[in-house]
Amino acid sequence: MMPRRASQKNAAVAPIHTDMKKRILLLGSTGSIGRNALSVIDALGESWQVVALAAGSNAKDLAEQANRLDVEAVAIADEGAAADLHDALTGSPTPTKCFTGTDALVDLVNGVDFDIIISAVVGTGGLGATIRAVELGKHVALANKESLVIAGSVLMGLAQETGAKIIPVDSEHSAIFQAMQAGNREDVEKIYLTASGGPFRTWSPEAMAEITVQEALRHPTWDMGPKITIDSATMMNKALEIVEARWLFDIDPDRIEVVVHPESIVHSLVEFRDGSVIAQLGTPDMRTPIQYALTYPDRIACPSPRLDLYAAGTLTFEKPDLDRFPALRLGHQVAEKGGTCGAVFNAANEVAVEMFRADALSFGDIARFSEKILTEHNFIAQPTLEQLLEADAWARQEVAKCTAC
Ligand code: NDP
Ligand code: MG
Repeated sequence: MMPRRASQKNAAVAPIHTDMKKRILLLGSTGSIGRNALSVIDALGESWQVVALAAGSNAKDLAEQANRLDVEAVAIADEGAAADLHDALTGSPTPTKCFTGTDALVDLVNGVDFDIIISAVVGTGGLGATIRAVELGKHVALANKESLVIAGSVLMGLAQETGAKIIPVDSEHSAIFQAMQAGNREDVEKIYLTASGGPFRTWSPEAMAEITVQEALRHPTWDMGPKITIDSATMMNKALEIVEARWLFDIDPDRIEVVVHPESIVHSLVEFRDGSVIAQLGTPDMRTPIQYALTYPDRIACPSPRLDLYAAGTLTFEKPDLDRFPALRLGHQVAEKGGTCGAVFNAANEVAVEMFRADALSFGDIARFSEKILTEHNFIAQPTLEQLLEADAWARQEVAKCTAC
């Protein structure tokens, strides 16, 4: 296939050409994005090869994937799962290289020859390997938004130095990335980040005080992993996405507006200086943005269902309610203030979500405690990576103490 020419005037990154065999390293292969990525790569055909996989602790599924795809190497973060992984790997005809422990994902990135990395670990666990891939100047299909929230300034600065291409997988950011190709970057006036509103969009404050874990895990339009599903219910996900957009597109946070769009058909919009608003639409299916992050700027037939405009019918847009969803206000504050705020906010939310899932916190406490930790933290305006990691560790300890607050 002949690679198509990318728009020279505004392309955020250079194109990935699809005329050679692409070697892919997939982090988070046992998760929702990871499994969707495998189905996309399978449908893309023989020019696309998964060469390495990584997961957190699910040795059984990781080994099954590794054996089926005959990958060269695997990594698992949980030391306790290493023996099960070793036992289950058949490694035929050559033994599968196996990395385990806290540095396993970074070791995998260092130890495998690859062209594209899909960073689809959930949470802070994805940061080290993502940074390493950016240091190596690789093409990074980035689903792990937490990396950008924690260390956006570091990652984007590094990408500029090394020429690494960070291409968003997150559906809204993929939409913005695509819409931006309709004009010059300096003519972008505003980004409209769409949000489904989650399962509690229409709930009263009284009803929201009683939200259970099961209710929060029931997303109306997207089928995703548990952490991001809870984040969508609190709208923390949109708060994290404001920060993600701020770094990815180097845009002033006050030019980012969240708009609630319950149908999840319009994935986001970009408004240009002349008043033209360019949107990307599609069914709510992550395989489309995952594939685009791999094949950009080419567009290849994708397994996700096509959008039926007549079936979709009416598309609606609402202003978000900042009283019922205070996370959105926090997201803007974090994006505006920068520094250590992203690391603290993300870590506080991660721990609070785990505690909510364990019935140790209420739904409303997630945003409440994240705000408290954010306010109390020792702000550093231009932190090093080490200081960001220290801020992350501090925030985790502080939220864990919050049950007693
Ligand atoms: P899942 O919970 O479904 O999967 C998470 C993956 O990360 C699993 O493979 C898990 O392994 C692995 N993992 C977790 N912790 C670690 C760790 N410390 N080290 C190595 N691997 C680890 O999450 P999703 O697929 O839903 O989300 C992945 C990322 O993509 C998140 O950042 C999310 O915000 C983002 N995203 C997801 C979307 C979606 O539709 N799901 C949409 C847009 C963005 P194991 O199975 O062994 O635990
Ligand atoms: Mg999203």
